[in-house]
Amino acid sequence: MEFCPDCGAMLMPKKGKIKCTCGYEKSLSDDDLVEQYHMKGETNPETKVIVTDSNNVALPTTKITCYKCGGTKGYWWTVQTRSADEAPTNFIRCAKCGNTWRSSN
Ligand SMILES: [Zn+2]
Ligand SMILES: [Zn+2]
Repeated sequence: MEFCPDCGAMLMPKKGKIKCTCGYEKSLSDDDLVEQYHMKGETNPETKVIVTDSNNVALPTTKITCYKCGGTKGYWWTVQTRSADEAPTNFIRCAKCGNTWRSSN
């Protein structure tokens, strides 16, 4: 599973490329494809079922205050930014309205 380093959305590779709704784009090298999507012996990455509906993924929950809807339950996950030297970024998603933002801590 790969996450967008810009907005935290889950990304689905398409024809050797990853494209996010926020505009983030990444070309996958052959090595990336082999490493990430052929690990379990698949020969065709198109046939692999990839969960893209992030609402179905079991993420840990946390107490939040959504600035959009005032919801108090949220999910969080961590994304390693483009540079491995940088600290990973935490993202929060409101369970009520789906609003997603970066965690400040
Ligand atoms: Zn994005
Ligand atoms: Zn909300």
